[in-house]
Amino acid sequence: MLQEATHAGRATRHLLAVPETDIALPYTRIDGTQKGPILLITGGVHGGEYPGIEAAIRFAQDLDPSRLKGRVYVIHMTNPPAFYGKSQYIVPLDGKNLNRVFPGSATGSVSERMAHVVSELAQSSDFWVDLHGGDIHEALVPFTIYSDGGSPEIVEQSRKMAEAYGIAHILESSSVAGGTYAYGASVGIPAILTESGQMGQLDEEAVEVHLRGLENILRVLGMVADPLGEIPPSTIYRKFVWSRALQEGLFYRSIVPGQWVHAGDIGGVLKNAYGDILAEIAVPQDGLVLFTATSLAINADDPLFAVAAE
Ligand SMILES: [Zn+2]
Repeated sequence: MLQEATHAGRATRHLLAVPETDIALPYTRIDGTQKGPILLITGGVHGGEYPGIEAAIRFAQDLDPSRLKGRVYVIHMTNPPAFYGKSQYIVPLDGKNLNRVFPGSATGSVSERMAHVVSELAQSSDFWVDLHGGDIHEALVPFTIYSDGGSPEIVEQSRKMAEAYGIAHILESSSVAGGTYAYGASVGIPAILTESGQMGQLDEEAVEVHLRGLENILRVLGMVADPLGEIPPSTIYRKFVWSRALQEGLFYRSIVPGQWVHAGDIGGVLKNAYGDILAEIAVPQDGLVLFTATSLAINADDPLFAVAAE
């Protein structure tokens, strides 16, 4: 109780220590002066997705506690080893994708331990927004994902958050592969993952998409008095296919994010180092290209592109 009194109306800085590692996740706790929901915001679960990290930092700096009802936790950088290692997809210390190991484990590998401490903070929160921004060799059109798992109420609340965020393309996912938002939904926390940014760039427009989205989340959850303004119309996609490389090679893409494509169109070719074609990768369904790999270098099982349909 004493702790609550000292936090009210203040923003305080903390480190979330990852047990038995030298890793600590910098976060800000912002407490309003009135009671209300607890919102968790995570930036940089993927270390090379800079707009989400920058948005987390600026949102935490700029949020005025006197206009807030409830509490916000902002983890500015959820994956420091991948950030400072300039690593795409994986944590360099154990080769795992942090967004595939939730809820993690207190006794597991480094990625699992990081996921574990974040999961604990999530469990003491009521809502969760996980900020992403296309990886280092990934081009993408902004989109928001939520899970179709959990109770109908959780799905409905997650969808409302996704719509309020303001990005026009929304995916309702049935994946349960250890991702933040799917884990959140599975333990009763409405959650969204928002993608704005690409190709290892710190792009101001992409940061602003996140900042506007986070302000809208405060409004739709009633954590600030300001009403939710008009939200641009969005489309919900329930069918999306990630096309992956079956072997390593050099990838030459022929489609770009935001483009509408048809099943059977060639999305790109994989060549060997002599320039011979190893495979032509066909688009799996009619729909919208969400992202493509942009690196020439491709390893077996790397994602090449994803196509979404309603
Ligand atoms: Zn990501």
